[in-house]
Amino acid sequence: MPEIILTLLGNLVAVPLARDGRGFQGACELRLDLWPGFDLPALEGTGLEIRIVSCRRARDGGRFAGSEEERAARLRPHLGRAGGAALVDVEWDGPLREWTREFPEQPFILSYHNTQRTPPDLPAIWEDMRRWPARRFKIVTAAHSWRDVTGMKPFLADARSRGLDLTAYCLGPFGHASRLLGLVWGGGMMYVSPGAPPVPGMLTLHEFEEVYRAGRAGPDSRVYGVVGEPVDRSLSPLLHNRFFAGKETADIYLPMPAPDPADFWAALDEIGPAGLSVTVPHKERWKDECAVLSADARRIGAVNTLTATPRGWAGDNTDWLGFEQSLAGWLPPDRDRFLVLGAGGTARAILHALERRGARVRCWNRDPARLKGLLKEFPSVRAAAALGGEADVVVNATAASAAGELPLPEPEMASLRAEYALDVAYGPAPSPFLRFAAGQGWKVRDGLPMLFHQAAAQHRRWTGSDPAVSWAEARALVESHWQDQARERIGPPDSSGSE
Ligand code: NDP
Repeated sequence: MPEIILTLLGNLVAVPLARDGRGFQGACELRLDLWPGFDLPALEGTGLEIRIVSCRRARDGGRFAGSEEERAARLRPHLGRAGGAALVDVEWDGPLREWTREFPEQPFILSYHNTQRTPPDLPAIWEDMRRWPARRFKIVTAAHSWRDVTGMKPFLADARSRGLDLTAYCLGPFGHASRLLGLVWGGGMMYVSPGAPPVPGMLTLHEFEEVYRAGRAGPDSRVYGVVGEPVDRSLSPLLHNRFFAGKETADIYLPMPAPDPADFWAALDEIGPAGLSVTVPHKERWKDECAVLSADARRIGAVNTLTATPRGWAGDNTDWLGFEQSLAGWLPPDRDRFLVLGAGGTARAILHALERRGARVRCWNRDPARLKGLLKEFPSVRAAAALGGEADVVVNATAASAAGELPLPEPEMASLRAEYALDVAYGPAPSPFLRFAAGQGWKVRDGLPMLFHQAAAQHRRWTGSDPAVSWAEARALVESHWQDQARERIGPPDSSGSE
């Protein structure tokens, strides 16, 4: 179980204490550079205990802009405080590192921060760091690639083999993945923020506890993740980690941003995932990376699920199944006239599901050339040249909702005749398409059931059994997550910095 350190952010200390009346029992880091004035927070009766005291320099992304003498003066009263139980964090590349030798009774963290990059001489830095008599060590760098992220793995392995306590991870867009992989690779500590994180890539307490359920993560964890760009708003980590936690496994599911697929593939052996969810924009291209493809993935022409096998990646597509199952209990079986808007990867999965269902399908797309190509592959589907005409169900399989737009101009929307409307998009508020459909008196369904069922199918592929979470439980989980997220976004207006 990693030690969770709550970073106190000045005025934000009240947030976790007010959280659902539950409070936060545990250790916190007192960042003197973020704490206003010299008055220390009154923590009596809060359940919080100061475990780490630091005063981060501006060059490390902190707020302290004074001299080293002034910084030493702020930190010195904390040496030996409470019988020396609190760790004092001093930087390896600064004069305060000498304190680790001067005050042998005081436990220290010796830290190295680089907010710009992961320097090539990091191995030499670690070699020198570990010679200093600190209780714990910490390396934090900015990652610009997956290679930077996996570059932390050998240091964590080296520290473990020597019985040293090292926490090592990267800042930036790979931050969540890097911090969680840090736990899997043997790091023992995780810094979390009570509200809006002061640095990109830091986990909030809510994300640590509810999204990743990361207290389970450690060297026994198998790694899974969602790969695409962007993935930072994906609900897949929330669902899959709930699935894994429900079975009491240590397995962990991470967001894996892959703006540069070549960089991601090059780091894949080091990450060693047992399974991956593939999302926009990689679904179609990555089928070519698979050693074997399921019949569904071949028919759809895209993968959303990769499973590691001794022969390489097995590619599958569960989107069609998610769509099919999301109709159950909502759409009566005799409603079989569908109008599908869109001709992208998701529309292809939906057409595959409707083809298997024997439905009567018309399809429309903004780009007629793309539609033409699609219809060649699905000859039973007709082009919806004129949008008017009866359909039982209109399915919005475009990416328009994600951009806050209607898939069609308003007058063309008004020419649609239907009884049911399904949007593949989901979110805390109904999409413009679903708002329009509800205004027409149609029965509406968002993309959340589809997301849940395609994720449950992925879980079955990876583990051989159903998740122990029902659709109703998943929906309640997502709704409470959205509420927590909305609360956490109300962070301090001026929070910025590093760790
Ligand atoms: P693609 O990029 O493959 O296709 C995008 C489609 O949306 C194309 O048909 C495109 O038309 C159309 N489109 C984009 N913007 C607009 C717009 N402003 N107005 C009208 N049409 C537009 O994406 P995918 O098919 O993979 O994904 C589509 C959506 O489905 C995404 O938002 C994704 O998040 C969601 N999704 C939901 C799932 C769930 O489980 N609920 C599962 C998978 C995906 P054109 O060809 O003219 O550019």
